Amino acid sequence: MTNREKEIKAYFDQLNRRDFIAGNSEGASLDLPVQIGHGQTISQPTLALNMTIALQPEPGSKVLEIGTGSGYQTALLAAFSREVYTVERIEALYKQAQEHLHAKNFTNIHFKNGDGSLGWTEHAPYDRIMVTASATQIPDELVKQLAPGGKMIIPVGGAHLQELQMIEKGANGEVRTSKLEDVAFVRLRGKYE
Ligand code: SAM
Repeated sequence: MTNREKEIKAYFDQLNRRDFIAGNSEGASLDLPVQIGHGQTISQPTLALNMTIALQPEPGSKVLEIGTGSGYQTALLAAFSREVYTVERIEALYKQAQEHLHAKNFTNIHFKNGDGSLGWTEHAPYDRIMVTASATQIPDELVKQLAPGGKMIIPVGGAHLQELQMIEKGANGEVRTSKLEDVAFVRLRGKYE
């Protein structure tokens, strides 16, 4: 484990998932997916940790996250990046995540309520993109919004089982895709549903 990975793990160890799940903290301390309301489920904490480590956010990184959900993953990203732009389509979750993340004194997170399947063009390009809902294919729009040298993680596949894919854009814009692991995420609504 690198020093950076150890720092991320140490931050993860003290981050309490209860702080992000209003009124439904049952199971929050277990390494299991948990319901956050509005038909949405958040993944087990260790998957959020592994995805953060795999994405390799750097202190200067500008990160786009699609699917704010509870804001738990957003906290992991924001603690290790310069800025995080996060998009959530369900207004109640968007509002709740803002409250929970402001309570933790984050000042480097920008929130948007809307469809993030096409990214957030105004602030592109991004050094890192994390999509925490599953798409039927890799959205071209997100690849375009990835900076040269950037990395994106996205679950791609069917409704019940997907491959977590890593997309890396080279300095000259060439794109390389590799598989990280099998996962089961809720659907990314919109064009790539
Ligand atoms: N990373 C989140 C966390 O730590 O709580 C969990 C995200 S949950 C698995 C997926 C989220 O993606 C849900 O909150 C869902 O509403 C959101 N979502 C689905 N499609 C979306 C879209 N097109 N744009 C923005 N958010 C979307």
